[in-house]
Amino acid sequence: MGLKPNGNYRNLKDSYLFFRISKQVAAYRAEHPDRPLYRLGIGDVSRPLCGAVIDALHAAADDQASAGSFHGYTPECGIPEFRAAAAGYYARRGVRLDPEEVFVSSGASDELGDILDLFDPSSPALITQPAYPAYVDASVMAGRKTVFLNAGPENSFLPAPPEDTEAELIYLCSPNNPTGAVYSLEGLQAWVDFANRRGAVILFDAAYEAFVEGDLPHSIFETKGAETCAIEICSLSKTAGFTGTRLGYTVIPKALEREGMNLNAMWIRNRTTKTNGISYILQKAGIAVFTDEGLRQIQENIRIYKQNAGVLMDALDSVGIRYWGGKNAPYIWMACPDGMKSWDFFDLLLREIQVIGTPGEGFGACGEGFFRLSSFGDPEETKTAAERLRRLLAERKGDLA
Ligand code: PLP
Repeated sequence: MGLKPNGNYRNLKDSYLFFRISKQVAAYRAEHPDRPLYRLGIGDVSRPLCGAVIDALHAAADDQASAGSFHGYTPECGIPEFRAAAAGYYARRGVRLDPEEVFVSSGASDELGDILDLFDPSSPALITQPAYPAYVDASVMAGRKTVFLNAGPENSFLPAPPEDTEAELIYLCSPNNPTGAVYSLEGLQAWVDFANRRGAVILFDAAYEAFVEGDLPHSIFETKGAETCAIEICSLSKTAGFTGTRLGYTVIPKALEREGMNLNAMWIRNRTTKTNGISYILQKAGIAVFTDEGLRQIQENIRIYKQNAGVLMDALDSVGIRYWGGKNAPYIWMACPDGMKSWDFFDLLLREIQVIGTPGEGFGACGEGFFRLSSFGDPEETKTAAERLRRLLAERKGDLA
């Protein structure tokens, strides 16, 4: 009797990764209140917003103070200036988008869940693992069947499309959280060709695109044919330090159709029903990110995170530990030493050197035996943590000078 809840929630596994980490850290802290902890586990940024963004926030707040410049509701899909600025950011890399193909959002997490409204829940999803945990959970909540494709050292954590799969909704994340691996243009093209052949749709999570260097693709729309099979979900969280400010954008091409239904038009219908727009002030801050000065300033912060990654990679290189990522991503995905399990390695680091990382097993079963280090921390703390890690790993190898 009574209203039935969404029973799919019964199928969710306990999301215990960060909960278990914080419980173990709190227990250690209680026992050793005087020992400093070195945090290499965080997926949050530590650098403040850049000056161009802060100026835009202040100016937009002032706009709201007088009747002549005040803004009430903004258009649900984004203010035209924001949509044009984001499209202009793509144009810098030769990707031509109509600003109406860019939709403002409150961030990638919100969007990764909401976008599922566009697809029939009976269409199975494919998730490459290890994976950002939200993909699996959002898919389970929607009652969608999920199949997994394992990534590992054998494919440099960049799996190719499978020969045979029933999946029609494909999650790809490049640069990847947690492995830091980045698809080449050819690697992405193979997925796009595969999706177009099957009529599948790729949800491409580009939350870390700003960390990409050289010729590697930032966007799935750098491939040929992505406009008929891909949606790109982007965020200013890691690009510009907006984790606590909240702004993102999603690209849905006008050419993307299935069974005669246009997904861009469907998303307009969705947003105009389910949102009343995103804060004017935040969109003005987002526009500031995409100016020449904004892009220069955010790269300054990213450079600091990359220096942190360099310090961590040097430490691992000096003791011969294998790792992936670090160069085009804020994460380093290392093999645990001596075939240790990832939670055992977590315990060892906490107990012996008070360094906190993230056990790979928390990102899916095939993450067992690996460990994620984040470069988002404070530079001095990262240097100290890297040295402590180097000494511990060298001691275990018996070759500490
Ligand atoms: N996608 C990936 C791969 C992430 O790692 C994160 C956050 O850590 C997100 C999406 C969510 O980003 P946002 O802060 O925009 O919700």
